[in-house]
Amino acid sequence: MPGPRVLLVRFGALGDVILTTPLLRAIHRRYPDAAVTVVTKAAYAPVLAASPAVQGVEPLADGDDLRALARRLRAMHWDHRLDLHGSLRSRLLRLLVGGRWRTWRKPRLQRAALIWAGVDTFRPPVPTAERYFAAARALGVEPDGGPAEVHVTAADAARARAVAPPGAYVAVAPGARHATKRWPPAHWRALAARLRADGLAVVGVGTEAERALLPDPEVVNGFGLGLGPTAALLHGARAVVAHDSGLMHLATAVGAPVVALFGPTVPAFGYAPYRARGLVVETALPCRPCSAFGRAHCPMRHHRCMIEITPARVARAVTGMVA
Ligand code: SF4
Repeated sequence: MPGPRVLLVRFGALGDVILTTPLLRAIHRRYPDAAVTVVTKAAYAPVLAASPAVQGVEPLADGDDLRALARRLRAMHWDHRLDLHGSLRSRLLRLLVGGRWRTWRKPRLQRAALIWAGVDTFRPPVPTAERYFAAARALGVEPDGGPAEVHVTAADAARARAVAPPGAYVAVAPGARHATKRWPPAHWRALAARLRADGLAVVGVGTEAERALLPDPEVVNGFGLGLGPTAALLHGARAVVAHDSGLMHLATAVGAPVVALFGPTVPAFGYAPYRARGLVVETALPCRPCSAFGRAHCPMRHHRCMIEITPARVARAVTGMVA
């Protein structure tokens, strides 16, 4: 008898898509014959492309017609329809595809209570990757205690080898969508100098535009490679330094030890390095957390949450990890 046919929707962001992989793995292990299709943004499709737990990816690019996608999906049979996004767009897709959908509850109220009233009800904090399992209750699957996973292809590994320096290196990801989540460029430069002094080459990763966030000619340029080769580059790193960002989750998913810098957000929201070798570096400030996902400007105008994380502290965390 064929396994269940599962349709799973999570358009973005990158970290959220990566955090669906423990659930995808659990479904695959329980139902090796399952046929799982994931609907996601075209930009994030590469992180699922080589997964043995995913039999189909329906990529949605900006400007693509949601109704055409819905027509295709409606014409297929699904035993389980999981909406892990819960956005207006995913709700519209649910409506257009029809059938019974299952969802999970975002901790919006809990986040708001912590941000606006300082009331912490995340006790204990539940990782987002595990919250997703609520949508799949009917499949009878549980988290297996393992990390997120992204499979590196041979072609991507070859592209990464062409960029990677000889010997041990640390990858640094200075980008984040929202400005308040970003460490200052001068801090990144100072960290790179300290790591080089410790004999570690430093490779910058992220989009081509994010290269400007680390203006250091001695940093090996790994920017603008695309997600697949970037995953391979992270996989080869002795450690990765990143913000609370998609590339931080990508690093955990390829097995790289991670130093994660948290400022306006906090690990309790569910986005700490998941079941991986990871260390969160943060400062204790009464204004933290000030937002769920970061903002364009610091509401207090001092941005101490990131500025007060010193390069010396991060360098110590990195060297402790690679020792
Ligand atoms: S310093 Fe405080 S108010 Fe400013 S961005 Fe950081 S957490 Fe928010």
